[in-house]
Amino acid sequence: MADYTRFGPAGVPERFKKIIRHISDVPGLLHAEGLTAFEYPAVRWGPKPQIKKESAEQLKNQALKNDIVLSIHGSYFLNLCGKEEIVEASKRRILACTQAAKWMNAYVVVFHPGFYGKMDKNVALKKCVKELREVVETMKSLGITDVKLGPETMGKVSQVGSLEEILTFCEEVEQTHLVIDWGHLHARYNGFLKESDDFRSIINTVEQRLGTKAVRNMHCHFSKIEYTKKGERRHHILDNKDYGPDFKLLCEVIVEYKMNPVIISETPLLDFDSISMRETLNMTINS
Ligand SMILES: [Zn+2]
Repeated sequence: MADYTRFGPAGVPERFKKIIRHISDVPGLLHAEGLTAFEYPAVRWGPKPQIKKESAEQLKNQALKNDIVLSIHGSYFLNLCGKEEIVEASKRRILACTQAAKWMNAYVVVFHPGFYGKMDKNVALKKCVKELREVVETMKSLGITDVKLGPETMGKVSQVGSLEEILTFCEEVEQTHLVIDWGHLHARYNGFLKESDDFRSIINTVEQRLGTKAVRNMHCHFSKIEYTKKGERRHHILDNKDYGPDFKLLCEVIVEYKMNPVIISETPLLDFDSISMRETLNMTINS
């Protein structure tokens, strides 16, 4: 949760990889670029944290020192409405991230809830709610109470994660935080985000369902996105004029609704596009 709109990359930028000795070097480098958030990639993690507690704590300390808010992106290999053994493995993967999040002081673990497969959509939604409630119970029993779960709006129609479903998770499951991936929404709804009113309509829906605080503190992913009838195909850089959505339109809404989101850049340019997003917001504020 942010005290002002924060920007940062999803994962470690390529050129950082050549100069860092340790993951805890990243917050200082981001701070030097004027960035204020970092989404730690745990996208290939199994059932145990793949970072040592000591390293996670070093990352935490450097993030605090450099005013970087941390989040974690959980495993890509999750399915809360699949076969039972897959569901159990998925829950263990989410829990591993929440443990690491506690160590590094990451406020939210973002993840992709799953695939409908042959399951009826309503049945799949109810199953995901039930499984997530169990994850939260386990988190509580482990003393992980400051970390939020962040199921994300998804870009493919085969994936659980429509806006409606994500809002339902936030209503039905404790210890959740709203995560809106704007590129994914744009792809899932056939290029829906064309004007600022389209962003407004989503914000208004969120506000009606979850309240003003949820709107102001949402965690966002942003990139330009290419899509087909099935939804998301590929992420693109912010400068790519062939694809939407336009970040400026989101900035108008951020200012209007007095939002303080954490905005994670998921474009191929990561931190460079984070800087460009920050500048676009500043221009909107000053215009
Ligand atoms: Zn994601």
